[in-house]
Amino acid sequence: PQLANQIAAGEVVERPASVVKELVENSLDAGADVIEIDIEKGGSKLIRVRDNGSGIPEQELVLALSRHATSKIADLDDLEAISSLGFRGEALASISSVSRLTLTSRTHDQSAAWQATAAGRDMHVDVRPAAHPVGTSIEVLDLFFNTPARRKFLRTDKTEFSHIDELVKRLALSRYDVTWQLTHNGQPVRRLKAADSAEQRQKRVAALCGRAFSEHAAFIENQYGDVRIWGWIVQPEACSAQLQCQYSYVNGRMMRDKLLNHAIRQAYGEHLLADQQPAFVLYLELDPRQVDVNVHPAKHEVRFHQARLIHDFVVSALTDALHQLTP
Ligand code: ADP
Ligand code: MG
Repeated sequence: PQLANQIAAGEVVERPASVVKELVENSLDAGADVIEIDIEKGGSKLIRVRDNGSGIPEQELVLALSRHATSKIADLDDLEAISSLGFRGEALASISSVSRLTLTSRTHDQSAAWQATAAGRDMHVDVRPAAHPVGTSIEVLDLFFNTPARRKFLRTDKTEFSHIDELVKRLALSRYDVTWQLTHNGQPVRRLKAADSAEQRQKRVAALCGRAFSEHAAFIENQYGDVRIWGWIVQPEACSAQLQCQYSYVNGRMMRDKLLNHAIRQAYGEHLLADQQPAFVLYLELDPRQVDVNVHPAKHEVRFHQARLIHDFVVSALTDALHQLTP
């Protein structure tokens, strides 16, 4: 089973940022609204994600680390099926197969926490009592320590950390209701308190996208039937290479969607010179039945059932807004 886990790990764990992504998604699934991420040496030494979510009951700790591992990968056909599904239920098993993992957790009805550790291919999950508030901490030490070929592919600490920071940025722009904290080698890098007013959300955007962005960005909001777009766009004359902030979300999920990007570019159209890039943080909200998000879990693409309508709505909403921004 550990070999299967390591094969799965190749899909799930490309680099430290992929570990952070899986751990944070679990924290969000557990209803956490405070998520603290500590990184050492770009994540190759330590990745720790601590949350205040629902926690994992003692009797499920072992299961959490081993779930689906054997039953899913029976033969090559299975492997293909799983890789197209994105290895659901595999993340912790996969990560622990290529690191030294410690899981500490406490549920609200437990008076004490429990801790489980697992390391590498010869996984002996070992459960013992521990101290921890309600919620979960997962510590991933020495990523790829037992897969030297993968470890060699890690880039510099700085590069690996920048991938993590970018991920945290994207997440923080999708979940304003969560308090985020990110440290690297003991130094605080991001500290974002949960934002529940328009003003606080704007502050978060300023903190994440920079002062230049927030000084030249205008809030926009538009609706057509049950399709709604809101967010911030930067006035064209302020768009520059330094203003790298291009984030779009569909029903709360970060997307790099061709249709959306096309619509945004079209709206900016002749306002932009050849070397200028639009800068925006935009949220599109629509009936979930009008969109397929599972087309390509890794590619961040969606399929809109009424593609033409969505495209034209985005173009016209942004064109109107830009019109008001440019004299
Ligand atoms: P999946 O998230 O697809 O179920 P994972 O391997 O990522 O698979 O996690 C396995 C299980 O461990 C989850 O289904 C969940 O029950 C539990 N779990 C993992 N992380 C957390 C967390 N931070 N808080 C609560 N439960 C968690
Ligand atoms: Mg998961």
